Amino acid sequence: MRLVIMGLPGAGKGTQAALLSEKFGIPHISTGAMFRAAKGAGGPLARKIAQHIDQGELVPDGLALAVVRARLEQEDCRDGFLLDGFPRTVSQARMFEQLLDEMGIKLDAAIDIVISADEAVRRIVERKTCPRCGATYPGGTEVCSVCQVPLAKREDDDEPTARKRLLIYEEQTWPLVEFYRERGLLLKVHGEGPIDQVFHRVLAQIRGLQADEVLG
Ligand code: AMP
Repeated sequence: MRLVIMGLPGAGKGTQAALLSEKFGIPHISTGAMFRAAKGAGGPLARKIAQHIDQGELVPDGLALAVVRARLEQEDCRDGFLLDGFPRTVSQARMFEQLLDEMGIKLDAAIDIVISADEAVRRIVERKTCPRCGATYPGGTEVCSVCQVPLAKREDDDEPTARKRLLIYEEQTWPLVEFYRERGLLLKVHGEGPIDQVFHRVLAQIRGLQADEVLG
């Protein structure tokens, strides 16, 4: 299964991606997590990445593609993967399409988790993240249930940066929904409500897709 997951920051992409990754046994590849790790590594590239992330802006498309290409070439992606946070622009989506062509593989679906902008800001401002595994938790949780370490606030999860990220998403990432709709790959899922309900909606859409394939 080769999947892309899209949605406003705070839509629950990371949470649903982790569940899907476990369900289908495919690696969950979060470009945001990869860039945050690269930023923490120090050096000139880290400084360049930090300039973008800390302002809530996208890193350049070429850099995003290079990171994804290197990751998809790894052995564990041979039978599938789930990309979370990439592609983020139509230009990245075009480059990604070309990359998949070169690799001789096809995307199965692009899942769009839909929530309102107000709900997104509320969730981002309240949520906390595990500094070790990157899992996010709603406001009120203090310790990661997996790593048992205290949760922290992501540096770009303050309200002004969150609003800027939403604006950039609306301008640059929304056109991707059309891009994937035109290719018959879009699965739209309502993202508000309990996590397990959203997951059931995602699975129902994927099953619909698999049924379509069987029926031809
Ligand atoms: P995320 O964790 O997906 O919200 O990403 C956090 C930040 O990482 C974004 O605000 C961008 O600065 C950067 N980033 C993640 N994925 C991409 C991408 N595909 N293209 C450009 N920048 C990205």
